[in-house]
Amino acid sequence: MVLQLAEKYFPYMVEVRRHLHMHPEVSFKEYETAKFIRGELDRLNIPYVTVADTTNIVATIEGKTPGKTILLRADMDALPVQEMNECPYKSQVPDVMHACGHDGHVAALLGAAHILCDMRDQLQGTVKLFFESGEEFRGSYFKMEEAGALEGIDHCFGIHIWVDVPVGKVSCDVGPRMAGTDLFTLKITGKGAHAAAPNQGVDAVVAASAIVMNLQTIVSREISPQDVGLVTIGKLTAGQRFNIIAEEAVLEGNLRYFDPRIHDNYEQMISRIAENTAAAFRAKSEMVLFGEGTPAVINTPENAAFGQAVTAKLFGEDALYTMPPVMPGEDFAFYMEKLGGTFVFVGGGFPDRDNPPHHNNRFDIHEDSLKVAAALHAQYALDYLAASK
Ligand SMILES: [Zn+2]
Ligand SMILES: [Zn+2]
Repeated sequence: MVLQLAEKYFPYMVEVRRHLHMHPEVSFKEYETAKFIRGELDRLNIPYVTVADTTNIVATIEGKTPGKTILLRADMDALPVQEMNECPYKSQVPDVMHACGHDGHVAALLGAAHILCDMRDQLQGTVKLFFESGEEFRGSYFKMEEAGALEGIDHCFGIHIWVDVPVGKVSCDVGPRMAGTDLFTLKITGKGAHAAAPNQGVDAVVAASAIVMNLQTIVSREISPQDVGLVTIGKLTAGQRFNIIAEEAVLEGNLRYFDPRIHDNYEQMISRIAENTAAAFRAKSEMVLFGEGTPAVINTPENAAFGQAVTAKLFGEDALYTMPPVMPGEDFAFYMEKLGGTFVFVGGGFPDRDNPPHHNNRFDIHEDSLKVAAALHAQYALDYLAASK
């Protein structure tokens, strides 16, 4: 039944996806996107609320019989990227593009809304449809929590359409699926002088350069080779001009992990190496910011098994695709930590051509992924609510 309905609403989903693809909006500015979604929900007579001072929408589909409540999420933001694809649905907005597939997520969740409305008689509980703002920028979890929008929800289910997975396949593997992220800023202070008299100054450029190199030993020498860690300095600014010894340097870095114990140690490891390296050059290093990004997305064995069973029921065992975890972050991890839930990658890769990676200016998804994602959303909700009666 779910599959037939996903097929029935497929042209609708393609239309929605292409409309959104042509009219992308960046994180936290999804005003027209949210308006469009509200219009679609109105047409279906699904009640919804806009949460706090965001564009977040939470819609509610009540089943025929009462039961538990499950949240299904679609993120809806685009990226500040100029689209280089030439296609009929190319982005009409300069320098903004749905280069991560979130247009497909919204289309699939609206497709699932249609399916669930048609099958309301079989729904043994409540489904919350959550259209989330700003996922590419750490998402809206804390605003949702503050507003009490997550109260009374028992479980959550999230999908990312993923082009490294062939269309028709679904990865619902157990364990870490996406990395936890942290970010930091270090300020290195030296002393300015004439470029020709370095002995009279303290060179912040030299100290910062040594810190960049030494920080790499966190991954190679401190974290176990069996664990996953990553330290990237993405930005380094220093100095005023070529003939002045730089008095100050600022390093901005990004960290990744799967094991929360590594996250717990990052701040201390970075400060220790930075401070001591700076001291070796008579400079000073100060951690001016250490920000927690998002935790790792981790499927528990029970939830992964449940997601796999739903996938196999819809598409057969052959649809299950095993994939190692990927290193981007995903704020759905917050929801999974709070509510418990499952995260799957739905194949969006074209089998017969190159698939430019997520966030690339030539990124595109195979649109058959929309019906797979919509069917999974709907079936997962139906089965979870039935199983938890
Ligand atoms: Zn992304
Ligand atoms: Zn994404």
